[in-house]
Amino acid sequence: MLEELTSKLESTFRRLRGYGKLTEKNIADSLKEIRRALLEADVNYKVVKDFVASVQKKAVGEEVLRSVTPGQMIVKIVHDEMVRLLGGTTATLKTAGIPPTIIMLVGLQGSGKTTFAAKLAKYLQKKNRKPLLVAADVYRPAAIQQLKILGRSINVPVYEEGIGDPVKIAFNAISYARQHMLDTIILDTAGRLHIDEQMMEELVKIKKRIRPHEILFVADGMTGQDAVNTASQFAERLNFDGVVLTKMDGDARGGAALSIKAITGKPIKFMGVGEKLEDIEQFHPDRMASRILG
Ligand code: GDP
Repeated sequence: MLEELTSKLESTFRRLRGYGKLTEKNIADSLKEIRRALLEADVNYKVVKDFVASVQKKAVGEEVLRSVTPGQMIVKIVHDEMVRLLGGTTATLKTAGIPPTIIMLVGLQGSGKTTFAAKLAKYLQKKNRKPLLVAADVYRPAAIQQLKILGRSINVPVYEEGIGDPVKIAFNAISYARQHMLDTIILDTAGRLHIDEQMMEELVKIKKRIRPHEILFVADGMTGQDAVNTASQFAERLNFDGVVLTKMDGDARGGAALSIKAITGKPIKFMGVGEKLEDIEQFHPDRMASRILG
């Protein structure tokens, strides 16, 4: 994960750590290299600009230049700024005061939404929650079938009515969850290949009527700035609560991970890191920064 970015930053950091004393030119050169590495990682241009500017502001202070280990101090500044860029603190899921908690998943087709629904169910099950998967992707019978198979493999019930009205299905699923003492509803909604008005209207309608406690936008991390642009459009219409980046096991660059919070204002809450259902990780900004910066 993100190995390309890590290896590009590695030599810059090694050099920085090695300096006994730093000149303003050393700092400027290092910042230029960091800037280039981030741009090559497909991080949003404006995000890179702001990032480098705030590192620079902190790095040129007297305190840094006069310190015994100025290089180390700059590495620390970059680390702290990266944690901030990634969202600062770990963003957790909301839970309802009175169950069931309703989590609605949205995103484009192929983003890994259905797989993530099952991963999240399994993850919550391990935390002693009792999830219910709900198939509200009413346009693709194959998606309903896929969710049923995934649910069976992890012993999580799947509520479905085949092709129908997603709002009605969601309401019926809430009754079903109450009857069966299930405390968390994971709603897998329909995604299209591209954003279209009909899909957005349907999602807005589900949100208004069902009032989920949490809406998670699922995006394929490997698609970089495309994922960020799609996220912006979803954020504008749906004002979702958090982001899930899937396929991070295949993302060497990290452009989406490093841009999406700054651009949409919404934190990353989970990552998909493989095809298996246990390949899910809660997103921790500090751990991710350490992973990237070595
Ligand atoms: P949906 O159309 O959004 O519901 O997408 P799917 O859940 O069907 O996933 C699309 C493809 O991506 C499938 O082949 C999944 O196995 C794969 N996939 C989903 N999440 C991950 C992940 O975190 N890592 C990898 N490598 N593949 C994933």
